[in-house]
Amino acid sequence: MLDRKTLVLNRSWMPITTTSVRRAICLMARGVAGAVHPGTFEVAEWEAWIERGPEENDRLEAVGFSFPVPDVIVLMEFNGVPDVPVSFTRRNVYRRDGFQCMYCGIMPGVSDLTIDHVKPRSRGGTTSWTNCVTACVRCNSHKADRIAHSVGLSLLREPVIPRWPGGLDPRSLRERPVWHRFVPKATLTAALGSEASA
Ligand SMILES: [Zn+2]
Repeated sequence: MLDRKTLVLNRSWMPITTTSVRRAICLMARGVAGAVHPGTFEVAEWEAWIERGPEENDRLEAVGFSFPVPDVIVLMEFNGVPDVPVSFTRRNVYRRDGFQCMYCGIMPGVSDLTIDHVKPRSRGGTTSWTNCVTACVRCNSHKADRIAHSVGLSLLREPVIPRWPGGLDPRSLRERPVWHRFVPKATLTAALGSEASA
């Protein structure tokens, strides 16, 4: 239970990361964060949360002490957005591109997606955020190791290094619908791609 994740909002209620319940409780105990009531959005500080926290939350039982586990906390002072890099993986390239072929625009599902090197590796193209895009099998094999425009393909948008709020990893977002109302729709879509509506 202590290792479960709690969503962390900054002072403007922008989701910035997730943390363990253990750390969320420490932040609350230090008065740095308050817990957000999932139904009413009221913010409760430590004492109020322990005494009158919501019944519906899971409870943490510790030595002589029982209180609701916060699903969402809000930081009282911090208002920034930590700049946490997104790891470069095949899946994250798909997520950045919304699970959509960057040449023809179709969304065929993960099993029919591939990674295309915009500048082919055979011509010195790197395997990086700015040279890799999501492509459907058909466009990728049509393009092969040529330059897109030479075979009549063009990119829907230029590949960029993505920035989605750091610790909001797509798996936890998917598993915790209670967080979704705190996360901007664009972030949800970027993180979950087509899975957001699945
Ligand atoms: Zn395509």
